Amino acid sequence: MASAHVSDPLTALREFVERITPYDPDPAATVGTVGIDHGHESGEFRLTPHLARALVEALASYRDPADRGTCAGCGGRRLDDNLHCQDCGRLHGVLGAVIFERAERISEQAERVQWAAGTDAERPLG
Ligand SMILES: [Zn+2]
Repeated sequence: MASAHVSDPLTALREFVERITPYDPDPAATVGTVGIDHGHESGEFRLTPHLARALVEALASYRDPADRGTCAGCGGRRLDDNLHCQDCGRLHGVLGAVIFERAERISEQAERVQWAAGTDAERPLG
């Protein structure tokens, strides 16, 4: 499994190549090489079109465990475990959306109250 090779990318790549090779429709074709130099060990593998496509798909489908999406408020990518944006403070997820919606309603009500009481010079738009 991938988690067994967290600190050993060379072994992970070697096992990936071994898993992919039996299904390569043109194992003699070569488009280049891919290698890893990992401290005391290094390895280089001949890159067939099939292996190249498999590597690209594997890399493209990888999702970092810390990736919790993009903040709808500021576009930041630093959302914590509670989907709380570390950049602008906005909450996400179902609970975050409910809290955000209620906060907006309370803010709008407060603006209307200020306007009705004449404490704000400008009338809120909308
Ligand atoms: Zn944000």
